[in-house]
Amino acid sequence: MGPFESSLLSELSLLEKQGLRRSLRVVESSRGTLITIAGRELVNFSSNDYLGLASHPEIASAMAEAAQRWGAGSTASRLICGTGAEHAALEEEIAAAKGTEAALVFSTGVAAATGTIPALVGRGDVVILDKLAHACLIDGVHASGAKMRVFPHNDLAKLESHLKWARETHPKGRTLIVTESVFSMDGDLAPLREIVELKDRHGAILFLDEAHAVGVRGRGAQGLAGELGLADRIEIQMGTLGKALGVSGGYIAGSRTLIDFLINRARSFIFSTAPSPAIAAASRASLRIVQSPEGDALRTRLQENLSLFAAAMKAKLPQSAIMPLILGGEEQALSEAARLQEAGFFVPAIRYPTVPRKTARLRITLSAAQSHEQIRRLAEAIQENAKG
Ligand SMILES: *Cc1c(COP(=O)(O)O)cnc(C)c1O
Repeated sequence: MGPFESSLLSELSLLEKQGLRRSLRVVESSRGTLITIAGRELVNFSSNDYLGLASHPEIASAMAEAAQRWGAGSTASRLICGTGAEHAALEEEIAAAKGTEAALVFSTGVAAATGTIPALVGRGDVVILDKLAHACLIDGVHASGAKMRVFPHNDLAKLESHLKWARETHPKGRTLIVTESVFSMDGDLAPLREIVELKDRHGAILFLDEAHAVGVRGRGAQGLAGELGLADRIEIQMGTLGKALGVSGGYIAGSRTLIDFLINRARSFIFSTAPSPAIAAASRASLRIVQSPEGDALRTRLQENLSLFAAAMKAKLPQSAIMPLILGGEEQALSEAARLQEAGFFVPAIRYPTVPRKTARLRITLSAAQSHEQIRRLAEAIQENAKG
């Protein structure tokens, strides 16, 4: 082995010692809420498929039909010849669902964030970020070259003091607040109304990542911004098509001018092959279902499951489909995950750097697709482990 590989190996073994090494697990089969890993069928409590749409037959058919009609690939970037009728229609439908003038689809949510933030701010500007913001938001800020200020999670007083600081020190620059509506690893909500008030009062703009809110909060695909009637006061609404919508891709929704600007300036959009037309068609089908009475029924079902699980765990009703069980140490989280796997459940241990040190946890996600029986059994297994 050469010096290059051996230096990589020594970093890997350090991660191993710290309980932070990760490896891939192959899902050998997947059928609804059941997944097979290492030959064992487990009930899945780890996916972001909150409404069970990833395996919805109508969405799969829309994808297959579009692939038959358009072929597998989009053949080029969106600005060359990669924008098909499916992409254009999807963007109109997202804008309508979000209550904005326009929307722009990226190949992933990560691409939406890392392309949009540096397009909007740079040197001379300030970005103020929630401490628990997703890695792609942080990466977007780093790539932008803007000054970054972080506020403790949901701490409005500290946010306001950063806003004042930004205006004093960068009077000519833009000030951008970046936060999530439903936090991905904690499942709690941002105090969005208050953040919008502060933003307006201090002449800032807001980038809101609704990755875990769309399809779960609000009607249809509104997210929290729509639920609170704040959609028209938020400059940049971001989301993903890969979580509750069950497909893949990311988007930005906002004014026509914002979208026209991003088409010209967001590098992850300009220099990347367009998502396959089949993905756009599947996303359209999913969006249709999410906004239909069937979507309402799925959300009701998800709420029932959340209430059931919270009651069984003697916990507060969660504000989203994400229920973290914070254990602290990495080893503790790993061994608890292993014990649950032994009992037939797939619940992943989430460790640093996905979450802060000493807050390793099980991230339990609920879905409309899970049965009451599966949920009761998981709660029992967790409580049994707690006793033992
Ligand atoms: C998953 C996630 C993203 C990235 O979206 P993808 O479509 O998976 O790339 C962005 N922000 C948050 C908060 C997320 O949880």
